[in-house]
Amino acid sequence: MTHRLVPVPLLSLALLFVLCGPLPAWGRRGHELVNDRAIGLLPPELRPFFERHRPELLVLANEPDLRKQRDPQEGPRHFLDLDAAGDPAQYPRTLEEAMRRFGAKRAVEYGVLPWHIGTVSAELTAAMKAGNEAQIVDIAGRLGHYVGDSFVPLHACLNYDGQLTGNTGIHKLWEADLLERYPFDKTMLASLGTPMVLEDPVVFAFETLTTGQAEVQGILECDTALHALRGKHEYFEKLRERTGALADRRLGEAATATASHWLTAWVRAGKPAMPAAAGDGAAQPQAPAEAPMPTPVPSKN
Ligand SMILES: [Zn+2]
Repeated sequence: MTHRLVPVPLLSLALLFVLCGPLPAWGRRGHELVNDRAIGLLPPELRPFFERHRPELLVLANEPDLRKQRDPQEGPRHFLDLDAAGDPAQYPRTLEEAMRRFGAKRAVEYGVLPWHIGTVSAELTAAMKAGNEAQIVDIAGRLGHYVGDSFVPLHACLNYDGQLTGNTGIHKLWEADLLERYPFDKTMLASLGTPMVLEDPVVFAFETLTTGQAEVQGILECDTALHALRGKHEYFEKLRERTGALADRRLGEAATATASHWLTAWVRAGKPAMPAAAGDGAAQPQAPAEAPMPTPVPSKN
């Protein structure tokens, strides 16, 4: 298809995603998939509410990546360079500790993802306590994005794009391009689990990032072995063959974890009855306004 044949609104939307930074995590399709599958895992007290708002939740699954273009503080919320100071197990578990150890600027440059998940999780709890339907949808949708990012191995390491090992470009190739080429929506189903109430969302995010960081080497080695095939269909065929199971597993776990985070916020809010459907007196949330066309800026993750 030539660009001339692409309807203007679709082209604008495509450009929006292209320009939103070179490293958009799971990619649009992957983040939608995480929120979409998370809904189906929820218990009966929550599921009808989330089912009703599925369209907004799928749009919001990608909103934080768009936000990078209008909020300079947004970028570091999408990753944590867990191996930046050596052993991931020794990485500071609080932002204050990280700032003391690395200095405030460097600590933020290494990323703040797990702590941001904690912040957004608390916001969701507050919105559920208040019974604010629009806020619940907005925050839950965005929370799914950050949880999804925490399951991308290349969001948990300093060598996030293979730039330190001659694998530059692997970030997008693995987590976005691969998912656009193959229908992971069916194969990831086997990796879905039962959501659970999380003792500590931040600790859980650290555990997720730690297991992801341990997978990075395997992805890089695979890319190195296939380097001569870069740009060819065969590259993706073999990348899928060798790392597709990992992508399936991390996607399934991300959807389960997203449901767990939503469930946890609800339990922490005191298990309130979810706002009723329109017609029962509840306000309807607005779909998020379309973001203005962003100016391209360098983006890390
Ligand atoms: Zn992201």
